[in-house]
Amino acid sequence: MSNDIKVLPLIPLRGIIIFPYMVMHFDVGREKSILALEDAMINKQEIFLAAQMEAKIEEPDEDGIYSMGTICTIKQMLKLPGDTVRVLVEGKKRAKINVYVEKEPFMKVEIEEIEDNKSSDENKQTALTRLVSESFDSYMKLSSAVPSDVPISLEDIDDDLGRFADTICSYLIVKQEKKQEILEAVDTTKRLEIILEVLRSEIEILEVEKEIGNKVREKIDKGQKDYYLREQIKVMQEELGEDDDDKKEQKKYKNKISRAKLPKDVKAKALHELNKLKNAGSFSSEGGVIRSYLDWILDLPWNVKTEDHIDIKKSRDILNDEHYGIEEVKNRIIEYLAVKEMSNSIKGPILCLVGPPGVGKTSIAKSIAHAINRNFVRMSLGGVSDEADIRGHRKTYVGAIPGRIIYSMKQAKSTNPLFLLDEIDKMGEGYKGDPAAALLEVLDSEQNFSFRDHYLELDYDLSDVMFVTTANTLETIPTPLLDRMEIIEVSGYTSEEKFNIAKKYLVPKELKEHSIDSKKIVFTDNSINCIIDNYTRESGVRNLERKIAAIIRKAIAEMLEKNKETITITATITKKYLGNDMYTYDKVDGEDKVGVVTGMAWTGYGGDTLPVEVAVMPGSGKLSITGQLGDVMKESAEAGFSYVRTNANKYKINEKFYKEKDVHIHVPEGAVPKDGPSAGVTMITAMVSALSNRKVKHNVAMTGEITLTGRVLPIGGLKEKSLAAYRAGIDTIIIPKQNEKDLRKIPKSVTNKVNFVLAEKVDDVIKNALVGEDNNGNKTS
Ligand code: ADP
Repeated sequence: MSNDIKVLPLIPLRGIIIFPYMVMHFDVGREKSILALEDAMINKQEIFLAAQMEAKIEEPDEDGIYSMGTICTIKQMLKLPGDTVRVLVEGKKRAKINVYVEKEPFMKVEIEEIEDNKSSDENKQTALTRLVSESFDSYMKLSSAVPSDVPISLEDIDDDLGRFADTICSYLIVKQEKKQEILEAVDTTKRLEIILEVLRSEIEILEVEKEIGNKVREKIDKGQKDYYLREQIKVMQEELGEDDDDKKEQKKYKNKISRAKLPKDVKAKALHELNKLKNAGSFSSEGGVIRSYLDWILDLPWNVKTEDHIDIKKSRDILNDEHYGIEEVKNRIIEYLAVKEMSNSIKGPILCLVGPPGVGKTSIAKSIAHAINRNFVRMSLGGVSDEADIRGHRKTYVGAIPGRIIYSMKQAKSTNPLFLLDEIDKMGEGYKGDPAAALLEVLDSEQNFSFRDHYLELDYDLSDVMFVTTANTLETIPTPLLDRMEIIEVSGYTSEEKFNIAKKYLVPKELKEHSIDSKKIVFTDNSINCIIDNYTRESGVRNLERKIAAIIRKAIAEMLEKNKETITITATITKKYLGNDMYTYDKVDGEDKVGVVTGMAWTGYGGDTLPVEVAVMPGSGKLSITGQLGDVMKESAEAGFSYVRTNANKYKINEKFYKEKDVHIHVPEGAVPKDGPSAGVTMITAMVSALSNRKVKHNVAMTGEITLTGRVLPIGGLKEKSLAAYRAGIDTIIIPKQNEKDLRKIPKSVTNKVNFVLAEKVDDVIKNALVGEDNNGNKTS
């Protein structure tokens, strides 16, 4: 079959390929091309369009133009501004240039129309058509370039494979070379194969593009979404009138700030934060942080000050009114206040009240505040182990608040309160910063005018604060802190003192707190003594106070239930109300024994008796020590053992005992930790007693450190120890001679009844503790 031959004007196309059945427009600017167009318009409006190989070339020659092109009809021509013409063409048929007939003034070519070469393998063609169709479907879904009505027009033509392929091709956005390859594929199967390949690779590319696009979009979307939501909230707030609330709130803060008479830098900071609040939006978490910060600044006292009234006479009256006894403590406090009054300044050492719990340290501090007309605030240092407890956390921490110092200043409501730092001895070792160092800064009058809290980020002046501290023991207070303090010891009470405190202070106080007239519930003296002796075991009066409160509550209940007007609390009623949960004091044995000696111990919680037992058995000179003893106490036992060995002869002990006997020292009550050197004399006495088989007087207790040469050294806590021994029924207490000066601190009620023996050497102890004769009939040394 011979193909039709035609001569048609040629326009070389730049960057585009036109397929048969394709309708498209393009702009023509080159003079030669416009001439070709005009020629075509005169002759049947037919033109041959073939792509030039290099789009950039202005005047391609025949080598630069593909020979396969498309015969088109010109549908429309539109003159655009300038010399450009927009043409709408419709592709008609493939054709190939045979020869260039003319090159000037425009190109004219002789072309040969090309028919599609249809394959005979129908199955292959059907399969291909389907695949191409499916792929095109996916392509279409992925690509936004394809109009949605295409598939319908495709269905109409899929019996003409060449046309089907060409139509799809006209929608593909692929490189020019590829399109040219498709154009040149005269064989329809081949054409479809190339299209399929192109579609598949395009789909892949589009999928990757889509994935990337999604990611990018997600990012952009999030920003847009946030913006959008925020705008929505604003609109909603406006609708609800909440925007007004915001403004009202800001105004409220502004008023508060200007009324608060803040120092200049504090005010500037507050206004700065208020400004931030305006921008943060009321629902944002930042808004919340700023609001609570502003509240803190506004709630803190910056310039509220109470006026001091230091009147020594009045102060003494107040101290006396609120506390029984403790004359020495009161005197020391009055002296301290007198110095302050004279110097007209509260600067100087810081008071530290030391003593067991419940002896009134806190309430004395309250009385001082009362006496000099200052607000009172208390902060416990028990367990503080982190600098942040004192100085706070930075605002950037979630839920940060100021440290305890600033927290307490807020409660104090004035810049010059009496600030009680309770349990300064219980402050933990810092593992995060050093709380003791921070505290030192708080207490140092040279530095504390500009105390810096991490949360507040502002200097706070603590220089007008009067600090008072309390501790149970001085041993665990860091030395630099101790150096700054004036120590006042508040020791435990005797039963008589407790009785008076209860009768004159605690009972009236508790009755008042329960709003009961003092005539309605009357405590007999016996009832008070019953509580002290049977229901409390303490140096102070804290439990005593609690038990009194418990009795009052039970009495009120009984009065209401049984319609009673008054109740008199007797010892029997006390036992009925408080139950059988009684303490029994370790009353010492009424019998003299070998190897059992009563020692005396002292802890932060008060004094106690501490029995020491020694057993001697056949063996090889081993010394064992049991009963949860600390290192110092163990060493003290070993020193005692050595002393006994060197002085065995003196005490009529077989000198070979250390070869033939084992000695076991035991200090019972394993749950109580015991340490310190003051049980030295007790352990020696018990060893001498056991080794020489001489009995120990049951009514004797002792305390004292020893040296290897047998000297008796002084000990601490004599008052607490003596009170405990007295309570336990002891009537002779052996103490180191060097502690003689401390005897005046011991209440008369004890010294009147107890015989204090002063010992310089171990010999003095043995002489007074062991019974005169041993079991073997030997005379007392
Ligand atoms: P501390 O601070 O030493 O642990 P507190 O000050 O809490 O002890 O005292 C416990 C209770 O005992 C308080 O109610 C206190 O008023 C009272 N108290 C302690 N000592 C006396 C005293 N000498 N006179 C009157 N009440 C006292």
